[in-house]
Amino acid sequence: MPKEFNAFKMAQQQFDAVAEKINLDPGTRSLLREPEREIQFTIPVKMDNREVKVFKGFRVQHNTSRGPGKGGIRFHPAETIDTVRALATWMTWKCAAVDIPLGGSKGGIACDPREMSEGEQERLCRGYIRKVWEFIGPNLDVPAPDVMTTGQHMIWMMDEYETIARSKQPGVITGKMVGVGGSLGRTEATGYGAIYAVREAFKDLEIDIRDATASIQGSGNVAQFACDLFTEYGGKVIAMACWDNKDKKAYTYTSENGIDPKYIVSTSPERITDKFGTIDAEKAKDLGWKQENGDAWLFKDVAVIIPAATENTICADNVDMISDIVKIIAEGANGPTTPEADEVIKQKDILLIPDILCNAGGVTCSYFEQVQNNMNYYWSKEEVLERLDSKMTVAYRRVSDLAKEKAVFTRDAVYMIAIQSVALACRLRGLI
Ligand code: NAD
Repeated sequence: MPKEFNAFKMAQQQFDAVAEKINLDPGTRSLLREPEREIQFTIPVKMDNREVKVFKGFRVQHNTSRGPGKGGIRFHPAETIDTVRALATWMTWKCAAVDIPLGGSKGGIACDPREMSEGEQERLCRGYIRKVWEFIGPNLDVPAPDVMTTGQHMIWMMDEYETIARSKQPGVITGKMVGVGGSLGRTEATGYGAIYAVREAFKDLEIDIRDATASIQGSGNVAQFACDLFTEYGGKVIAMACWDNKDKKAYTYTSENGIDPKYIVSTSPERITDKFGTIDAEKAKDLGWKQENGDAWLFKDVAVIIPAATENTICADNVDMISDIVKIIAEGANGPTTPEADEVIKQKDILLIPDILCNAGGVTCSYFEQVQNNMNYYWSKEEVLERLDSKMTVAYRRVSDLAKEKAVFTRDAVYMIAIQSVALACRLRGLI
């Protein structure tokens, strides 16, 4: 990742461009360019060797005019306040894009859970909550899992919050495991949601998904279930990339016959991925998958490419090399494409499904989890996925219709919908 990349600057740049297009008044622009509240703190953790290590923690609430804040907590060694600010901003737009009554937040801890024991991770989770508990809650701001955080982390966090609050508050956090307040379908939600949108995009382009191929960056949660549903629809995923923490580099694994999701998804006993979404190189070789460079996934002759790993992966340096065969880019990750790359994608006439729409299945299902927690009544997996499909399809159609009607790029269309709906909520509250 180039050193000068700043995710928050990119989020502001994306906002400014659309604010200009829709003639947003200066007061609303100033309000929506910046987060409402930011918390930065330290978390001391007693490590197993008795030494104390101090971690840096963040929680940013960008805008809560449409409802309580919602946004994941990431564990990443390179986490910064600007990444968290950007992700919180994108959450605001994302919730508005799929029309769920929530605002935008995000959290993070600069740490590497791959190098921490279970006990150290539990103490870190509990320490995080002790620093933010006053600012979160079912009607205030609701965290969830994100990169390198899991349902287990969420349960430790919920437990710490409930201990402080002296009451059961399952709606304080989502992405919990089933049986402890979690929702069926949450594990699949983001990847499936992305593919519901991809399915609609194929309809727009009048291409049969059953003849289509895909290449995915990432083999973690989002990528796994995107691969699963794309394959179930009859398509073929021919390449998946992942980060190998042992070799400290990324690899692409390619199988021209298609990667069978049973070797990838976390719910399968035959998986060759670990809990961080790394593909086991030896087992991949045994299956006949070819190991290539980390960026090879981006240059494949496929109908759809799905960046589902990290931000800033499609940029000015590599966008020109995307194959002319590619018809759709479905942004499973947050912020994978830079504004410079967007310009080339427009020229190439590739249909882009923007992140705040494409990966909104996760937050939509988190919202369903909150609804079920509040009712203390739980839906079947089929019911959850049916509601998710319906929300994603309606949201995709709104964006696609607006993009056609106004002859604008899909990213601009989704931002227009989201910014206008957040601005309306701010206006109705009398904030602007
Ligand atoms: P994850 O931690 O489960 O998986 C991340 C994957 O990316 C892993 O396979 C990892 O090996 C791979 N990766 C990391 N760096 C890489 C690199 N340089 N090259 C190739 N692969 C690399 O995370 P996730 O939950 O699947 O999230 C992926 C993206 O989707 C993130 O941008 C996240 O913010 C976004 N997202 C996730 C959810 C969700 O519900 N999980 C919801 C919305 C958005």
